Order: sequence, then C-alpha cells, then structure tokens
Amino acid sequence: MSKAFDIGLESLAGESSLRTEAVRPGGLALPNRGTFFLETFGCQMNDHDSEKVAGVLMSRGYQQVESPEAASVIFYNTCSIREKAAQKVFSRLGEFRDKQHDGKIIGVLGCVAQQEGEAIFKRAPWVSLVCGSASYSKLPGMLAQLEAGNQRVTGLDTDTDETFETEVTRRDNPWRAYLTIIEGCDKACTYCVVPFTRGPERSRASDSILREVRQLAELGYSEVQLLGQTVNSYADPTARRMRFSELLLAVAEVRGIRRVRFTTSHPSDFTPDIVEAIEREPKICDHVHLPVQSGSTRVLRAMQRTYSREEYLEKIALMRGASRPIGITTDIIVGFPGETEAEFEETVSLLEEVQYDSLFSFKYSPRPNTPSLSMSDSISEEEKSRRLAILQDKQREIQAAKNARLVGERFEVLVSGKSRRENQWSGYTTAHRMINFASQETELLGTYVQVRVTGAGPNSLAGEHAV
Ligand code: SF4
Repeated sequence: MSKAFDIGLESLAGESSLRTEAVRPGGLALPNRGTFFLETFGCQMNDHDSEKVAGVLMSRGYQQVESPEAASVIFYNTCSIREKAAQKVFSRLGEFRDKQHDGKIIGVLGCVAQQEGEAIFKRAPWVSLVCGSASYSKLPGMLAQLEAGNQRVTGLDTDTDETFETEVTRRDNPWRAYLTIIEGCDKACTYCVVPFTRGPERSRASDSILREVRQLAELGYSEVQLLGQTVNSYADPTARRMRFSELLLAVAEVRGIRRVRFTTSHPSDFTPDIVEAIEREPKICDHVHLPVQSGSTRVLRAMQRTYSREEYLEKIALMRGASRPIGITTDIIVGFPGETEAEFEETVSLLEEVQYDSLFSFKYSPRPNTPSLSMSDSISEEEKSRRLAILQDKQREIQAAKNARLVGERFEVLVSGKSRRENQWSGYTTAHRMINFASQETELLGTYVQVRVTGAGPNSLAGEHAV
C-alpha cells in the first residue's frame, strides 16, 4: 500500500480480526443482493472510507467475500498520490480484460476515479461505476442504479458541503476505531492531488462525532483515531463551534475511551491549545504527526506549505516544552523541482534538530492537475534516490539512538498482535512506538498491559510484560 502525504501510515498487521456491525437499525431483515469484494489502496482515510463503503453495501444486503472471483460486485478504492499507486489499479482492472466478468459489477472509487473520471470507461469498458470520495454520500443511489442494470454510473462532483456518514460501518480493527472528522482540503500544496480529488474542506458536526464515539465505546472500542487530511483545521459547523482541541477533550471524556489519536495535523493550524489539551488529558495520545515536507523555507514557499522552517520549528518548540514528552513524526519529500543540494542539506539538518521519532519520506512524483507539474528544474530519479537514501540513513541513526535510550523504561501498551512464536505479543505505546514483548499470559489481545523495554532497534522496541 502507498501512503498519502499528510496521512500517517501504519501497519495493521496482527490486528486483522474482523468486527462486523452489519445490523440494520431496527433489526429489519436484509435482502440478499449478492457478494462484494473491496480492495483498498493508499492512506488511512481511504482505509476508513472503505470501512464505510462496506457498511453501505452490507446495509443493502451484500455480503463481503475475500476474492474477486467469489464476488458479484468488485470495488477498488484507489490512491493517486504517486504514479505507482495509480498504475496499480489499472493493472487490477486489466486482469478483467481477457477474463469473463460474467455480469459482475466493477467499480473504481477514490482518487484515481476522481482524477481520471469517465476516461476510465474508455480504458476499461467493463467498469460500471466511477466515483470520487466527495460523492460517497450518494453511493446508495448509485448502487440502486447499478442494481437496475445501468452500465455507466458516475459520481464525480466535488462541489459539495456534505460529509460521508453511514448508519453502518464495517470496521477492520476490533480495538481502534477510525472516524473521519474533516474531509477534503482547502490548502493548496503545489504537489498535491488531494484538493482536486477530495474536494473542499467539510467538517462533520461535533454532536454527530460524539454520538458515534459513544456508540463505539459501547461496542467495546477503547481507542479512537480522528482522521482528516488536515485534521486540526476542523471547524465545527454546529452552533457549538467546538475548537479541535475542545473536541479532543470531549472525545476523551466519553466513558470507555482510553486513547484518542488524531492524524494528520497541518503545521499552520497547529495551535498551543492542542498541546495544552494533550498535557491536560492523558487519554489524548502523546503523539503528533506533523508533516514538514522540507527543511528549506525557499522550497516550502515553492510547495505553498504556508509556513517557513522557523515557523515550523516554533510548533516543535511548543511540543518540546510540554510537561509530558510528545512523540513527533513527519513526512518529507526529496527532489522537489529546483531543490538544490544546499536546500536538501537544510532538510537533513532539520532532522538533526527536531530528532523525529519516525519519518515517512518520498521522492517527489509529479502528479496530474498539480501546479508543480509545470515547474522547471526537475531533479533526476538517480539524484532523488541518492537524497532519499541519505535522509533515511540519517533518520535510522536518530531512531536507533532515541530508542536505545528507552531501554529500562516501562510503557502502557495496547496489545494488538500475537506472534506465531510462542509467548510473543506486540502493541503500541501512546506515543505510537511499536513494542514486541514476551508474556506468559494466554489472552492479551485488546488489553492494556505494562511492558518494560529490554532492547531497541531503529524501528521497534523489544520488551517483557511487567506485572
Ligand atoms: S494540499 Fe497540502 S495540506 Fe492538503 S492534503 Fe495535500 S499535502 Fe495535505
């Protein structure tokens, strides 16, 4: 899977047990409409959109299956943040070229759908639905058209003020529930397809978010992760006008919730009250993903990131000044058009200065419909690879040293994975550090345990269950 800029990517390995909530409110019997297969590419926002799309299908009477062969409806929820991710979906669609698709309904959802639009029908005439994420709220009507035999259904309007809310969400993770609180993006980073593919910023009503969190807690979820391309740009559309930090605190107050995460934050909207909320409420996780993209103010201006290196460092200082340590992670793009060697070195020095806990780094990839596409001075692939390797080596060094200093410390871990090796478990601390640990217990999945760190590598910690 690939990752969207500004969206934290994480592995859900070990967290694959399925929680199905396909119960129509009121307990009415569902018609049996067939089976669906849904494959997702991209970021957490896409993963969660797919959970909601699956909920819409299930509440119409479809059952989820594990292979396209077994399905009567096949949907691909796509990502176009980099070229490779976009190509992947066309290779999937190509698999149907020579095969009989026997009246199966094939649909392309998400960013590639929005970007390519009806051209997808020309390239893959066996596709019946092309729908961008800004039109997901119209999905039930589009499904009805497909069921009626319509061969060409589109949802490509991005001029919307609606958010995608579903009565049923089919959640993949039994302990951590994802909730999109803001969709689209009003920033205009020159390399990014998101404002084009996901439409303008729309925030979900705070009362609706809190209602869903209460339902999730009743279902047994103890951790919620609030999602948005720029989650901290949240603007409550209700008369309450809750600030993002107030929303974090209100979610943490819900009985049964033990951890509140949020991703991804935009540096320009990262205000002191967010850090104050983290300091005040231990249930708000001490982890902030704050994409910087470059350490050079000149490059940041060219990217239209709306902050300088110095302004970004002020946000870091806010967090470093907090009364409890906050884990900080980031995204970086190397080889943006015109990035000089000296400017790249500024990014390397930023890594040294901030001492990130983790980093997602990418080579710049020109995308359709983005302003940076027409910028001159492109950097060769070879040079981008060289810069990426230098950056990643530097970060590995930083992480190895930081993690080594944690040996001997104790952390609370939400256990989310069980290894095939006997007595071996894994989970995350509130700062989102992954720990593999040993325990003689037999039933730990979904519980919170204390773990003492006994060893460290650059990407994870090792430990033992401390009782
Ligand atoms: S336009 Fe900028 S802020 Fe918005 S999603 Fe893209 S990278 Fe993030």
